[in-house]
Amino acid sequence: MNSQHFIELDETYSAHNYHPLDVVIERGDGVWVYDVDGKKYLDCLSAYSAVNQGHCHPAIRDAAVAQMNKITLTSRAFRNDQMGPFLQELCDYAGYEMALPMNTGAEAVETAVKAARKWGYQTKGVPDNQAEIIVCQGNFHGRTTTIISFTSEPAYRKDFGPYTPGFVIIPYGDAAALEAAITPNTVAFMVEPIQGEGGVVTPPDGYLHEAANICAKHNVLFIADEIQTGLGRTGRLFACEHEGVRPDVMILGKALSGGFYPVSAVLSDAPVLGLFQPGDHGSTFGGNPLGAAIGRAALQVIKNEDLVSRSRELGAYFKGRLERIESEHIKEIRGKGLFIGVELKVPARRFAEALRDRGILCKETHKTVLRFAPPLVITKEEIDWAADHIEVVLMMD
Ligand SMILES: *Cc1c(COP(=O)(O)O)cnc(C)c1O
Repeated sequence: MNSQHFIELDETYSAHNYHPLDVVIERGDGVWVYDVDGKKYLDCLSAYSAVNQGHCHPAIRDAAVAQMNKITLTSRAFRNDQMGPFLQELCDYAGYEMALPMNTGAEAVETAVKAARKWGYQTKGVPDNQAEIIVCQGNFHGRTTTIISFTSEPAYRKDFGPYTPGFVIIPYGDAAALEAAITPNTVAFMVEPIQGEGGVVTPPDGYLHEAANICAKHNVLFIADEIQTGLGRTGRLFACEHEGVRPDVMILGKALSGGFYPVSAVLSDAPVLGLFQPGDHGSTFGGNPLGAAIGRAALQVIKNEDLVSRSRELGAYFKGRLERIESEHIKEIRGKGLFIGVELKVPARRFAEALRDRGILCKETHKTVLRFAPPLVITKEEIDWAADHIEVVLMMD
Protein backbone atom coordinates (compact mmCIF):
# COMPACT_ATOMS: atom_id res chain seq x y z
CA MET A 1 0.00 0.00 0.00
CA ASN A 2 1.52 3.33 -0.92
CA SER A 3 1.18 6.64 0.86
CA GLN A 4 -1.39 8.03 -1.54
CA HIS A 5 -3.92 5.41 -0.50
CA PHE A 6 -3.74 6.41 3.18
CA ILE A 7 -3.78 10.09 2.36
CA GLU A 8 -7.01 9.56 0.40
CA LEU A 9 -8.60 7.68 3.29
CA ASP A 10 -7.70 10.51 5.69
CA GLU A 11 -9.06 13.12 3.34
CA THR A 12 -12.30 11.20 2.86
CA TYR A 13 -13.07 10.00 6.36
CA SER A 14 -11.30 12.37 8.75
CA ALA A 15 -12.62 15.80 9.58
CA HIS A 16 -10.14 18.25 8.09
CA ASN A 17 -9.12 19.84 11.38
CA TYR A 18 -5.39 19.49 10.57
CA HIS A 19 -3.16 20.26 7.61
CA PRO A 20 -0.50 17.56 7.98
CA LEU A 21 2.61 17.12 5.91
CA ASP A 22 1.99 14.25 3.55
CA VAL A 23 4.16 11.60 5.14
CA VAL A 24 2.42 8.40 6.23
CA ILE A 25 4.29 6.97 9.19
CA GLU A 26 4.18 3.28 9.95
CA ARG A 27 6.72 2.80 12.73
CA GLY A 28 9.30 4.61 14.83
CA ASP A 29 12.43 3.88 16.81
CA GLY A 30 14.21 6.55 18.87
CA VAL A 31 14.59 9.69 16.76
CA TRP A 32 13.71 7.89 13.52
CA VAL A 33 10.33 7.20 11.93
CA TYR A 34 9.62 5.13 8.83
CA ASP A 35 6.87 5.69 6.27
CA VAL A 36 4.74 3.06 4.55
CA ASP A 37 7.12 3.07 1.60
CA GLY A 38 10.06 2.24 3.86
CA LYS A 39 11.61 5.70 3.73
CA LYS A 40 13.26 6.89 6.96
CA TYR A 41 13.01 10.33 8.54
CA LEU A 42 14.58 12.07 11.51
CA ASP A 43 11.70 13.37 13.63
CA CYS A 44 12.33 16.97 14.63
CA LEU A 45 8.87 17.56 16.09
CA SER A 46 8.58 14.68 18.58
CA ALA A 47 4.78 14.84 18.45
CA TYR A 48 4.89 18.35 19.90
CA SER A 49 7.39 17.14 22.55
CA ALA A 50 5.34 14.14 23.68
CA VAL A 51 8.12 11.75 22.68
CA ASN A 52 11.07 13.36 24.46
CA GLN A 53 12.20 9.83 25.34
CA GLY A 54 12.26 8.77 21.66
CA HIS A 55 9.70 6.74 19.73
CA CYS A 56 8.66 3.39 21.19
CA HIS A 57 11.25 3.50 23.96
CA PRO A 58 11.82 -0.17 24.88
CA ALA A 59 11.70 0.40 28.66
CA ILE A 60 8.36 2.22 28.43
CA ARG A 61 7.04 -0.34 25.97
CA ASP A 62 7.98 -3.19 28.30
CA ALA A 63 6.27 -1.49 31.23
CA ALA A 64 3.18 -0.90 29.08
CA VAL A 65 3.00 -4.48 27.86
CA ALA A 66 3.57 -5.88 31.36
CA GLN A 67 0.78 -3.70 32.73
CA MET A 68 -1.54 -4.60 29.83
CA ASN A 69 -1.14 -8.21 30.82
CA LYS A 70 -2.31 -7.39 34.37
CA ILE A 71 -5.00 -4.72 34.42
CA THR A 72 -5.58 -1.57 32.39
CA LEU A 73 -8.56 0.25 33.86
CA THR A 74 -10.20 0.12 37.24
CA SER A 75 -11.81 3.58 37.25
CA ARG A 76 -11.41 5.69 40.35
CA ALA A 77 -14.40 3.91 41.88
CA PHE A 78 -11.71 1.53 43.13
CA ARG A 79 -8.03 1.91 43.89
CA ASN A 80 -5.15 0.41 41.91
CA ASP A 81 -1.53 -0.36 42.71
CA GLN A 82 0.01 1.95 40.08
CA MET A 83 -1.51 5.40 40.56
CA GLY A 84 -0.18 6.04 44.08
CA PRO A 85 3.41 5.05 43.27
CA PHE A 86 3.25 7.08 40.02
CA LEU A 87 2.06 10.23 41.76
CA GLN A 88 4.56 9.76 44.60
CA GLU A 89 7.43 9.43 42.11
CA LEU A 90 6.15 12.38 40.08
CA CYS A 91 5.71 14.61 43.15
CA ASP A 92 9.16 13.68 44.49
CA TYR A 93 10.79 14.39 41.16
CA ALA A 94 8.96 17.66 40.57
CA GLY A 95 8.93 18.88 44.15
CA TYR A 96 5.21 19.09 44.93
CA GLU A 97 3.00 17.65 47.65
CA MET A 98 0.10 16.39 45.55
CA ALA A 99 -1.03 15.71 42.01
CA LEU A 100 -4.31 15.20 40.18
CA PRO A 101 -3.98 12.79 37.24
CA MET A 102 -5.86 13.33 33.99
CA ASN A 103 -5.34 12.24 30.38
CA THR A 104 -4.90 15.00 27.82
CA GLY A 105 -3.17 18.30 28.31
CA ALA A 106 -6.37 20.27 27.80
CA GLU A 107 -8.05 18.30 30.60
CA ALA A 108 -5.18 19.14 32.92
CA VAL A 109 -5.49 22.82 32.00
CA GLU A 110 -9.24 22.65 32.74
CA THR A 111 -8.37 20.99 36.04
CA ALA A 112 -5.95 23.79 36.92
CA VAL A 113 -8.61 26.38 36.07
CA LYS A 114 -11.07 24.64 38.38
CA ALA A 115 -8.46 24.27 41.14
CA ALA A 116 -7.56 27.96 40.95
CA ARG A 117 -11.20 29.05 41.03
CA LYS A 118 -11.98 26.80 43.98
CA TRP A 119 -8.94 28.14 45.84
CA GLY A 120 -10.08 31.66 44.98
CA TYR A 121 -13.54 31.18 46.46
CA GLN A 122 -12.65 29.00 49.43
CA THR A 123 -9.30 30.43 50.50
CA LYS A 124 -8.79 33.87 48.98
CA GLY A 125 -12.42 34.86 49.58
CA VAL A 126 -13.36 36.01 46.07
CA PRO A 127 -17.14 36.56 45.78
CA ASP A 128 -19.11 33.79 44.04
CA ASN A 129 -18.62 33.54 40.27
CA GLN A 130 -16.33 36.58 40.16
CA ALA A 131 -12.95 34.80 39.80
CA GLU A 132 -10.64 36.09 37.11
CA ILE A 133 -7.69 34.28 35.57
CA ILE A 134 -5.06 36.22 33.65
CA VAL A 135 -3.52 34.64 30.54
CA CYS A 136 -1.22 35.86 27.78
CA GLN A 137 -1.60 36.90 24.19
CA GLY A 138 -0.35 34.17 21.86
CA ASN A 139 -1.08 31.46 24.43
CA PHE A 140 -1.85 27.87 23.60
CA HIS A 141 -3.44 25.85 26.38
CA GLY A 142 -5.62 23.42 24.40
CA ARG A 143 -8.87 23.23 22.50
CA THR A 144 -11.85 22.84 24.83
CA THR A 145 -14.60 25.42 24.70
CA THR A 146 -13.41 27.06 27.92
CA ILE A 147 -9.77 27.11 26.81
CA ILE A 148 -10.51 28.58 23.39
CA SER A 149 -12.51 31.26 25.21
CA PHE A 150 -9.19 32.77 26.27
CA THR A 151 -7.12 32.29 23.14
CA SER A 152 -6.05 35.34 21.16
CA GLU A 153 -5.89 33.29 17.95
CA PRO A 154 -9.03 33.99 15.88
CA ALA A 155 -8.86 30.63 14.06
CA TYR A 156 -9.11 28.72 17.35
CA ARG A 157 -12.22 30.69 18.40
CA LYS A 158 -14.24 31.60 15.37
CA ASP A 159 -17.73 30.04 15.30
CA PHE A 160 -17.23 28.25 18.62
CA GLY A 161 -18.89 30.77 20.92
CA PRO A 162 -20.52 31.57 23.26
CA TYR A 163 -17.33 31.77 25.28
CA THR A 164 -16.60 31.10 28.93
CA PRO A 165 -16.15 34.35 30.87
CA GLY A 166 -13.61 34.95 33.62
CA PHE A 167 -10.39 35.40 31.66
CA VAL A 168 -8.26 38.46 30.99
CA ILE A 169 -5.65 38.51 28.21
CA ILE A 170 -2.48 40.57 28.63
CA PRO A 171 0.65 40.88 26.45
CA TYR A 172 3.21 38.08 26.88
CA GLY A 173 6.54 38.98 28.42
CA ASP A 174 5.28 42.17 30.08
CA ALA A 175 5.40 41.95 33.87
CA ALA A 176 4.04 45.48 34.33
CA ALA A 177 0.94 44.51 32.34
CA LEU A 178 0.42 41.59 34.71
CA GLU A 179 0.56 43.78 37.78
CA ALA A 180 -1.81 46.29 36.18
CA ALA A 181 -4.33 43.57 35.29
CA ILE A 182 -4.59 42.10 38.79
CA THR A 183 -7.79 42.94 40.67
CA PRO A 184 -9.06 41.70 44.05
CA ASN A 185 -10.87 38.94 42.10
CA THR A 186 -7.77 37.63 40.33
CA VAL A 187 -7.15 34.05 41.39
CA ALA A 188 -4.38 33.01 38.99
CA PHE A 189 -1.97 33.92 36.24
CA MET A 190 -1.51 31.06 33.78
CA VAL A 191 1.50 31.16 31.48
CA GLU A 192 3.72 29.06 29.25
CA PRO A 193 7.39 29.66 30.15
CA ILE A 194 8.09 29.53 26.41
CA GLN A 195 5.15 29.74 24.02
CA GLY A 196 5.46 26.61 21.90
CA GLU A 197 2.50 26.79 19.53
CA GLY A 198 2.85 30.56 19.54
CA GLY A 199 6.13 30.04 17.67
CA VAL A 200 8.75 29.12 20.31
CA VAL A 201 8.40 32.63 21.74
CA THR A 202 10.81 33.18 24.62
CA PRO A 203 9.95 36.01 27.01
CA PRO A 204 12.59 38.55 28.13
CA ASP A 205 15.06 37.29 30.75
CA GLY A 206 13.72 37.79 34.24
CA TYR A 207 10.07 37.84 33.17
CA LEU A 208 8.99 34.60 34.84
CA HIS A 209 10.82 35.51 38.02
CA GLU A 210 9.21 38.93 38.14
CA ALA A 211 5.78 37.56 37.27
CA ALA A 212 6.04 34.96 40.04
CA ASN A 213 6.99 37.68 42.54
CA ILE A 214 4.05 39.83 41.47
CA CYS A 215 1.71 36.86 41.91
CA ALA A 216 3.09 36.15 45.38
CA LYS A 217 2.72 39.81 46.38
CA HIS A 218 -0.95 39.91 45.34
CA ASN A 219 -1.95 36.44 46.56
CA VAL A 220 -2.48 35.16 43.02
CA LEU A 221 -1.57 31.62 41.98
CA PHE A 222 1.23 31.35 39.45
CA ILE A 223 0.25 28.49 37.12
CA ALA A 224 2.85 27.24 34.66
CA ASP A 225 1.62 25.30 31.66
CA GLU A 226 4.72 23.12 31.12
CA ILE A 227 2.88 20.57 28.99
CA GLN A 228 5.27 21.22 26.10
CA THR A 229 8.28 22.83 27.83
CA GLY A 230 8.46 20.47 30.81
CA LEU A 231 10.28 17.19 31.40
CA GLY A 232 13.62 18.19 29.96
CA ARG A 233 12.63 19.79 26.67
CA THR A 234 14.33 23.14 27.37
CA GLY A 235 17.45 21.79 29.08
CA ARG A 236 16.01 21.92 32.59
CA LEU A 237 13.48 19.56 34.09
CA PHE A 238 11.03 22.46 33.92
CA ALA A 239 11.49 25.64 31.90
CA CYS A 240 10.59 27.78 34.94
CA GLU A 241 13.82 26.55 36.57
CA HIS A 242 15.80 28.70 34.14
CA GLU A 243 14.69 31.62 36.33
CA GLY A 244 14.58 29.82 39.65
CA VAL A 245 10.78 29.87 39.71
CA ARG A 246 8.71 27.19 41.41
CA PRO A 247 5.14 27.67 40.18
CA ASP A 248 2.28 27.30 42.66
CA VAL A 249 0.60 25.02 40.15
CA MET A 250 2.35 23.03 37.44
CA ILE A 251 0.55 21.46 34.46
CA LEU A 252 2.19 18.49 32.74
CA GLY A 253 1.20 16.22 29.87
CA LYS A 254 2.75 15.13 26.60
CA ALA A 255 6.13 13.54 27.54
CA LEU A 256 4.69 12.36 30.86
CA SER A 257 3.85 9.19 28.94
CA GLY A 258 6.70 9.26 26.43
CA GLY A 259 4.06 9.25 23.72
CA PHE A 260 2.52 5.89 24.57
CA TYR A 261 -0.78 6.99 25.95
CA PRO A 262 -2.41 10.25 27.05
CA VAL A 263 -1.24 10.98 30.60
CA SER A 264 -1.42 14.45 32.14
CA ALA A 265 -1.37 15.84 35.65
CA VAL A 266 -1.74 18.98 37.70
CA LEU A 267 0.81 19.32 40.49
CA SER A 268 0.54 21.61 43.48
CA ASP A 269 0.52 21.56 47.26
CA ALA A 270 -2.17 20.70 49.77
CA PRO A 271 -3.54 24.27 50.10
CA VAL A 272 -4.70 24.06 46.47
CA LEU A 273 -5.20 20.43 45.48
CA GLY A 274 -6.28 19.52 49.00
CA LEU A 275 -9.47 21.54 48.40
CA PHE A 276 -10.94 18.95 46.02
CA GLN A 277 -13.66 16.79 47.55
CA PRO A 278 -15.19 13.58 46.24
CA GLY A 279 -17.46 14.39 43.32
CA ASP A 280 -15.84 17.75 42.48
CA HIS A 281 -13.88 16.53 39.55
CA GLY A 282 -12.88 13.33 37.81
CA SER A 283 -12.24 11.31 34.71
CA THR A 284 -12.92 7.67 33.86
CA PHE A 285 -9.40 7.12 32.58
CA GLY A 286 -7.48 9.60 34.79
CA GLY A 287 -5.07 7.75 37.08
CA ASN A 288 -5.68 4.41 35.41
CA PRO A 289 -3.10 1.69 36.05
CA LEU A 290 -1.92 1.45 32.45
CA GLY A 291 -1.30 5.19 32.15
CA ALA A 292 0.31 5.25 35.59
CA ALA A 293 2.66 2.36 34.82
CA ILE A 294 3.61 4.08 31.56
CA GLY A 295 4.13 7.38 33.38
CA ARG A 296 6.41 5.73 35.94
CA ALA A 297 8.56 4.22 33.18
CA ALA A 298 8.57 7.48 31.19
CA LEU A 299 9.90 9.43 34.18
CA GLN A 300 12.47 6.73 34.88
CA VAL A 301 13.84 7.04 31.33
CA ILE A 302 14.25 10.81 31.73
CA LYS A 303 16.27 10.20 34.91
CA ASN A 304 18.24 7.13 33.81
CA GLU A 305 19.31 8.58 30.50
CA ASP A 306 19.98 12.03 31.90
CA LEU A 307 17.79 13.52 29.18
CA VAL A 308 17.67 16.91 30.86
CA SER A 309 21.45 17.44 30.55
CA ARG A 310 21.43 15.97 27.06
CA SER A 311 18.81 18.51 26.03
CA ARG A 312 20.83 21.36 27.53
CA GLU A 313 24.13 20.37 25.90
CA LEU A 314 22.90 19.12 22.55
CA GLY A 315 20.39 21.95 22.30
CA ALA A 316 23.16 24.52 22.66
CA TYR A 317 25.14 22.64 20.02
CA PHE A 318 22.19 22.42 17.60
CA LYS A 319 21.34 26.08 18.06
CA GLY A 320 24.99 26.99 17.45
CA ARG A 321 24.97 25.05 14.20
CA LEU A 322 21.77 26.77 13.06
CA GLU A 323 23.14 30.18 13.98
CA ARG A 324 26.02 29.67 11.56
CA ILE A 325 23.65 29.31 8.61
CA GLU A 326 23.88 32.48 6.53
CA SER A 327 20.47 32.40 4.89
CA GLU A 328 18.72 35.60 3.90
CA HIS A 329 15.41 33.94 4.90
CA ILE A 330 16.26 33.72 8.62
CA LYS A 331 14.88 36.47 10.81
CA GLU A 332 15.64 35.07 14.27
CA ILE A 333 16.69 31.86 16.01
CA ARG A 334 15.43 31.37 19.56
CA GLY A 335 14.71 28.76 22.18
CA LYS A 336 16.35 26.83 25.00
CA GLY A 337 17.69 23.29 25.06
CA LEU A 338 16.33 21.14 22.25
CA PHE A 339 13.40 23.51 21.81
CA ILE A 340 14.46 25.72 18.93
CA GLY A 341 12.45 28.01 16.71
CA VAL A 342 13.79 29.46 13.47
CA GLU A 343 11.68 32.41 12.44
CA LEU A 344 11.77 33.14 8.75
CA LYS A 345 10.90 36.29 6.86
CA VAL A 346 8.77 34.17 4.51
CA PRO A 347 6.20 31.35 4.91
CA ALA A 348 7.91 28.25 6.32
CA ARG A 349 5.75 25.51 4.82
CA ARG A 350 7.80 24.96 1.65
CA PHE A 351 10.97 24.62 3.72
CA ALA A 352 9.28 22.01 5.91
CA GLU A 353 8.28 20.17 2.73
CA ALA A 354 11.80 20.37 1.32
CA LEU A 355 13.18 19.03 4.61
CA ARG A 356 10.71 16.17 4.50
CA ASP A 357 11.94 15.28 1.01
CA ARG A 358 15.46 15.10 2.49
CA GLY A 359 14.35 12.91 5.41
CA ILE A 360 13.78 15.44 8.19
CA LEU A 361 10.35 16.00 9.69
CA CYS A 362 9.44 19.33 11.18
CA LYS A 363 6.34 21.44 10.99
CA GLU A 364 5.82 25.11 10.49
CA THR A 365 4.12 26.88 13.35
CA HIS A 366 2.50 30.27 13.04
CA LYS A 367 3.23 30.26 9.30
CA THR A 368 6.78 31.60 9.49
CA VAL A 369 8.46 29.58 12.24
CA LEU A 370 10.21 26.23 11.85
CA ARG A 371 10.34 24.38 15.16
CA PHE A 372 13.20 21.96 15.77
CA ALA A 373 12.44 19.78 18.79
CA PRO A 374 13.80 16.27 18.22
CA PRO A 375 13.54 13.52 20.83
CA LEU A 376 16.08 14.23 23.59
CA VAL A 377 17.87 10.94 22.82
CA ILE A 378 19.26 12.43 19.58
CA THR A 379 23.04 12.19 19.12
CA LYS A 380 25.53 14.85 18.08
CA GLU A 381 26.13 13.01 14.80
CA GLU A 382 22.41 13.04 14.03
CA ILE A 383 22.27 16.77 14.76
CA ASP A 384 25.20 17.35 12.41
CA TRP A 385 23.45 15.36 9.70
CA ALA A 386 20.21 17.31 10.20
CA ALA A 387 21.96 20.68 10.37
CA ASP A 388 23.73 20.02 7.04
CA HIS A 389 20.39 19.41 5.36
CA ILE A 390 18.69 22.33 7.09
CA GLU A 391 21.45 24.57 5.82
CA VAL A 392 21.01 23.40 2.22
CA VAL A 393 17.25 23.87 2.42
CA LEU A 394 17.42 27.32 3.98
CA MET A 395 19.84 28.42 1.26
CA MET A 396 17.14 27.74 -1.36
CA ASP A 397 15.69 30.81 -3.09
C1 LIG B 1 -0.20 20.50 23.66
C2 LIG B 1 -0.44 21.55 24.66
C3 LIG B 1 -1.65 21.59 25.39
C4 LIG B 1 -2.82 20.67 25.11
O1 LIG B 1 -2.50 19.33 25.26
P1 LIG B 1 -3.47 18.23 24.57
O2 LIG B 1 -2.91 16.93 25.07
O3 LIG B 1 -3.31 18.41 23.09
O4 LIG B 1 -4.84 18.50 25.03
C5 LIG B 1 -1.77 22.56 26.36
N1 LIG B 1 -0.78 23.43 26.62
C6 LIG B 1 0.38 23.42 25.93
C7 LIG B 1 1.44 24.39 26.29
C8 LIG B 1 0.58 22.49 24.92
O5 LIG B 1 1.71 22.51 24.22
